[in-house]
Amino acid sequence: MSSKYGAPQPYYPPDWAKELSVIPKTRIKLAQLPTPIHSWSVPGLPDGFQLYIKRDDLTGSTLSGNKVRKLEFIFSEALDQGCDTVITGGGLQSNHTRATAVVAKELGLSSLNILYLPPEKTHESSLSSKEKGNLLLSCMVGATSETVPFLAAETRFKQMEEYMKATSDRLIVKGHLPCIVELGGANPTGAWGYIEAFQEMIDQGILENFDDIVMCAGTGGTALGIGLASYLTGSKLKVHAVCTKAPSTVVATNINKELSKIKKEGMDNHLQCSDIVDLIDLHTDTSIKKEDLDFLTQVSTKTGIILDTTFTLKTVICMLHEMKYNPERFRGQRILFMHTGGLFGLCDGQLDPVLVQTPDTNRIRSIHEFIDVV
Ligand SMILES: *Cc1c(COP(=O)(O)O)cnc(C)c1O
Repeated sequence: MSSKYGAPQPYYPPDWAKELSVIPKTRIKLAQLPTPIHSWSVPGLPDGFQLYIKRDDLTGSTLSGNKVRKLEFIFSEALDQGCDTVITGGGLQSNHTRATAVVAKELGLSSLNILYLPPEKTHESSLSSKEKGNLLLSCMVGATSETVPFLAAETRFKQMEEYMKATSDRLIVKGHLPCIVELGGANPTGAWGYIEAFQEMIDQGILENFDDIVMCAGTGGTALGIGLASYLTGSKLKVHAVCTKAPSTVVATNINKELSKIKKEGMDNHLQCSDIVDLIDLHTDTSIKKEDLDFLTQVSTKTGIILDTTFTLKTVICMLHEMKYNPERFRGQRILFMHTGGLFGLCDGQLDPVLVQTPDTNRIRSIHEFIDVV
């Protein structure tokens, strides 16, 4: 196997994770690690709190965000099994399907993404010259995308499983060896991406320097990895995950399902999601409002950090709300926010009107207004 990443290497888990039941045998290094941690003076931070940011938006360029950490273990397993095609799914602007498509191509595999359309769209079967953001990158690497109608959050995982299984059967008949990757890379193998990330953060001093970690939960895979690792190491950190895509009941079910697969034999049989992660529901609905977008541009123009509108923006708004109105929810005041990426999803055209209307971002001028250019 030759690619710029080389072959999968034997993987040895940290000592504190050795007893888990699904330990990957190999790992292929795809991400740019370790990602930095630095202080972050986000607008609106309540007095008393000190906020730092873990830059998992910097895990790579076309691979950036949290998914690539999971894919290091998932692709390693796929290569070890001799798969030639990777099947996965997500929304039209899914960061996960984009990262999967790029990694697949870099490793010489085919990739097929099943994408559910936004509610207002009922049909999408060819390039429409509107491909932007993540979808643009998937197209650029020649990934196949097959669209299905919008799927409600509550039934999405199950329906997607069925679509992916049927697609896999179709490819097997044609002589392929496909591998199905769960939505968001949320399976016991992928969970190791964030178990391993916790060790990276221990090496960066989080156990001494922080009281709480806050992140976003989509499938909950990232929160599971961090929460379980924090539990296994006996750390005093409190792990919070803001549920931006589905209600916490749905996320908890998902995390419990994965937890039961990865828990070691005989390990605290009652261990469940609520013991390892504090799931936080949004105090607003999931739709993005004008004031949210104003905050998004305020954050980027004041601090240079770019959040995304699907995951991290709502997470930060909700975190600040909890700090202000529910500070006892936090174990202490030294908070680490995990930036899980999502930059390309933001580049789907949604911000065009906002940038024009906001004086701080509408700063394109012709130099002719100021000097004579010959
Ligand atoms: C997928 C994703 C998440 C959610 O991660 P899960 O592990 O699915 O909970 C958060 N932020 C960004 C930018 C993502 O792409």
